[in-house]
Amino acid sequence: MKRSFLRELAALLYPSRCPVCGEVIGANDSFCPECSGKLVPYNDDFSVAGSSGFTAAYEYRPEISASIIIMKRGIVGNAPFAFGGALAERIREAGFEADIIVPVPMFRNDLQKRGVNQSELIAKELSLRLGIPVCRNAVRKVRSTTQQKGLSRQERLVNLKGAFAVNAPELIAGKSVIVADDVCTTGSTLAEMTDILLKAGAKKVYCACCCKTPRKDSNNSPASAK
Ligand SMILES: [Zn+2]
Repeated sequence: MKRSFLRELAALLYPSRCPVCGEVIGANDSFCPECSGKLVPYNDDFSVAGSSGFTAAYEYRPEISASIIIMKRGIVGNAPFAFGGALAERIREAGFEADIIVPVPMFRNDLQKRGVNQSELIAKELSLRLGIPVCRNAVRKVRSTTQQKGLSRQERLVNLKGAFAVNAPELIAGKSVIVADDVCTTGSTLAEMTDILLKAGAKKVYCACCCKTPRKDSNNSPASAK
């Protein structure tokens, strides 16, 4: 059965809502028309050390941050569909050709507390749209890290050093990988992920995030960035 039809059926019981403002929207819509007009598509040349390419769907501005924070807290709603769908389009435009999608993993205890890894939800949506499988068991987060927000670039690097490990290099070796995450600020998380994947033998690593914080001169970054 077509996914769009299944979503229409599901919406009879649980109407789809715009993840930005909460208004009821069509079953296969991503955002309401008003919010669609407000979101700023990512249009910058940010790069991640070691990565073969970076893209994002939107700039991480205050109007979008609430929906990302709510998704992080486990109230998922339509956010992965909307943000993952927009990101899939950008990945297509960027021409990233990958064999697998790897979500940025969460530390086990953090995942138990929160109940949901938003990066995995995004990765699943990308997988549905792009036909590329998600590989969720190849990389794990081996220790907890403090929130990246408020840390300097150097502090972020130290905070993340050795935080991720490749469990199953045989799932990575020779593969082109898209690393999926929700928000990117300085790119230190993505750089660390890229580094360990390349060391495990990945052919190429691309990085894709729903939102990228704008450059400092263009706006203030909202809370909960990493
Ligand atoms: Zn809206």
